[in-house]
Amino acid sequence: MAIKGIERSPDNHNVYKFRYEMGYKRRRIIWIEAMKMTMHKRIYLFEEGSANMCDLLGNKGAQIAEMTRIGLPVPVGFTITTETCKEFYKCGKKFPRGLEEELMDKVRMLEAKTGKRFGDPDNPLLFSVRSGAAISMPGMMDTVLNLGLNEKTIKGLIRQTNEEKSAYDCYRRFVQMYGDVVLSVSKEKFEWVLDKYKVKQGVKTDAELSADALKEIVAVFKKIIKEETGGVFPEDPHTQLKMSIEAIFNSWNNPRAITYRRINNLPHDLGTGVNVQVMVFGNVGEDSATGVAFTRDPATGEKRLFAEYLVNAQGEDVVAGVRTPKNIEGMRKEFPVAYDELADTCNVLEKHYKDMQDIEFTIERKKFYVLQTRSGKRTALAAVKIAVDMVEEGLVDKKAALLRVDAEQLSQLLHPTIDAKAKLNVIAKGLPASPGAAVGKAVFGAERAVEMGESGEKVILVRLETSPDDIGGMAASQGVLTARGGMTSHAAIVARGMGKCCVTGCSNIILFENARGFRVNNAEVKEGDYITLNGSTGEVILGKAELVEPKMSANFGKLMEWADSVRKMKVKANADTPFDAQAARDFGAEGIGLCRTEHMFFEGERIKAVREMILSDTLEERKRALAKVQVMQKEDFKGIFKVMDGLPVIIRLLDPPLHEFLPKEDDEIKELVKEMSVDAKKIKDIVTALHEFNPMLGFRGCRLGVKYPEINEMQAKAIFEAALECQKQGIEVKPQIEVPLVGEVKEFMMIKEIIEKAAEETGAKGKIIYETGTMIEVPRAAITADKIAKEADFMSFGTNDLTQMTCGFSRDDAGKFLKQYVDCGIYKRDPFQSIDREGVGLLMKMCVDKARKVKPDIEIGICGEHGGDPASIEFCYKIGLSDVSCSPFRVLIARLA
Ligand code: PEP
Ligand code: MG
Repeated sequence: MAIKGIERSPDNHNVYKFRYEMGYKRRRIIWIEAMKMTMHKRIYLFEEGSANMCDLLGNKGAQIAEMTRIGLPVPVGFTITTETCKEFYKCGKKFPRGLEEELMDKVRMLEAKTGKRFGDPDNPLLFSVRSGAAISMPGMMDTVLNLGLNEKTIKGLIRQTNEEKSAYDCYRRFVQMYGDVVLSVSKEKFEWVLDKYKVKQGVKTDAELSADALKEIVAVFKKIIKEETGGVFPEDPHTQLKMSIEAIFNSWNNPRAITYRRINNLPHDLGTGVNVQVMVFGNVGEDSATGVAFTRDPATGEKRLFAEYLVNAQGEDVVAGVRTPKNIEGMRKEFPVAYDELADTCNVLEKHYKDMQDIEFTIERKKFYVLQTRSGKRTALAAVKIAVDMVEEGLVDKKAALLRVDAEQLSQLLHPTIDAKAKLNVIAKGLPASPGAAVGKAVFGAERAVEMGESGEKVILVRLETSPDDIGGMAASQGVLTARGGMTSHAAIVARGMGKCCVTGCSNIILFENARGFRVNNAEVKEGDYITLNGSTGEVILGKAELVEPKMSANFGKLMEWADSVRKMKVKANADTPFDAQAARDFGAEGIGLCRTEHMFFEGERIKAVREMILSDTLEERKRALAKVQVMQKEDFKGIFKVMDGLPVIIRLLDPPLHEFLPKEDDEIKELVKEMSVDAKKIKDIVTALHEFNPMLGFRGCRLGVKYPEINEMQAKAIFEAALECQKQGIEVKPQIEVPLVGEVKEFMMIKEIIEKAAEETGAKGKIIYETGTMIEVPRAAITADKIAKEADFMSFGTNDLTQMTCGFSRDDAGKFLKQYVDCGIYKRDPFQSIDREGVGLLMKMCVDKARKVKPDIEIGICGEHGGDPASIEFCYKIGLSDVSCSPFRVLIARLA
């Protein structure tokens, strides 16, 4: 049997297939898979890597390699690949065969480069061992510094540094980190010892402890390790290195790393790289330091070096906050040469990466080293300024600059936020339904909110859930908190429309029966108590937190202009009133993508006429009531047409189930009885008759128009009359009338006929250019989109209902369990927040493809809440939608996304 060929497996580069030919006459070819033991590389010296090897080397490893490649002063070292981490797990959390040999090989190379030896008592080589995944997960995994120290090598370190105290400081840190990271001994055990010694020596900081004290502490730490683990601290540097690497591989799956990945929607199967780097010491005297720097100010974006450093310190001291770091001005005076080198390095890095960098550095005896670089986190204000400045400096072009700003982050610029320095007493967490922050006195009813709001008080409306009746109260409040409901609940949609902060689905809240307070965990909030909401995180905070008002800059306008010049999809707004329409225009909306007419039904006198219509016994009575509504609706539409002058306006016909317009509680029914002089029994009977077990799947949308054509007729006439009157006044009108909840094309055709008749009867036919289209909210409509497209002028995805009906999640109730669904990874994100691409998204794509086959240019948009979510917008672009429509306050975000 002879090997006739070798081939690499396409899905696993570590697997090779060998082709054997068997037999003499009858040649049978078999492939045998074999793990390649020696041929693949698991460890890369820094000079062998580069920035584009991020997946293999992890982000930290790839950037260290890149800095080495471009000649920056990086201490030498190597990276063990993320693939090796995966192998480690495959081998049952053990080093794969061959890794140890390769590791020793690389250690020997570093010995040759530095002239020091690992484990040498006279001239020891010491390492830092740090994790680093392809996507940076700050602070989530572990680090061990000064590795290689033991009772013998410490002597060599003292000789090298000429600093007994510094050497013992390193040793103390190493044993402590090793105990914590590798041997899982609780941090506090070590901290208590340090505290005891500080008290004994009468000093405040670790850095002030004497060499003798540090020496004793090392011995005590080793004793603790023995007591806690039953084993001795390993003196052998090779064992230390191997165990530290294993600990870092294991840290990929520590609970906080898993939680971080879950919160940030990161995959769990990437594995981490391990960076082994020769130590440089920032703690060997007053001429040494360690610090972090940003190439620009991460808070304001100002082009200035922003750095903090600590003299005679190491590693985590800067971030740990034990000592207050000094600012960059101090460094210019104290370390002038290193300062210049830091400034040069920052310059080089910015030019190279064309982005603001966050770096870590160490100064060892005045010599500057850079240890790490990554793209720096920044506020929205800074992100915008940096993007615009970099274009003006010629560093990046406009398209690249646009990609540097996270669209979602822009909401920081539109709403107040909680002061980052504020200490918060978070008492509960719900869904982050509408961003921004709000402070106010808790109130538990809409009327009370209006009352207190009118007397100048700032209030937060707290409800089990909101209904259209609460709109006045919501408008009078700073923010809204509900115990029930999800991201597309009434409260969420209305608050987003108003640009108000809102937290929904806060299910831990137990409202008092008297509706004058709530209890959550151990806290109680009564009417008048101050609470703060963070609508960007879903947090409910007891008391008044300090808020920071939003700031808009000229740079922002510039960035938006650039976004408009490159984007292909139109951005429209969901707006129901002239006021909302104005806000939408101010934010740059190019039309109204959804005007939910029912929201006007609650305004002032309208609700009475609507109720009269619902309570009518005969067609005549109903028509009389509708005539009253028509006059008012016409005025609303005129107002909207005036504001939108020349821009298209999609007006949706009545959608919600009729029971939503009737009172539910006995008190309210009594009031209605008085107001309308009808008997209570009749109202109760009608309320009972309209009751549905699943109203969201019930008598709503176009189904109302099929049974009561006069409702749609009235609305269509109001639209046409408004359009005609506006046109007479010289206002350009572009009405698009939209039929909701269509599932079968015949439903659409029936309503379209009503609309056409109304156009004729009002004299709009031939005078007003209008379109008739449909929402795509029912899966059946998406599946039969070709048939619908033949009849409709435009389509718009109502992804709130489409998600509800495709996933089978009630949009009003799913908040109760969706969080767990996301937490345990069943859905990557709440499908009401971001389009579920595999399910709902696939249906949308199918719909677009089918519709465009029949009518290639048909306008297809989206007006569900997803229209303001950057990830969903990206998806809509990919499947070829013409426009997105979202609440006015998300228009800017959508324009950039
Ligand atoms: C939708 O279903 O996505 C939609 C926009 O309609 P509504 O939220 O009013 O049901
Ligand atoms: Mg809908």
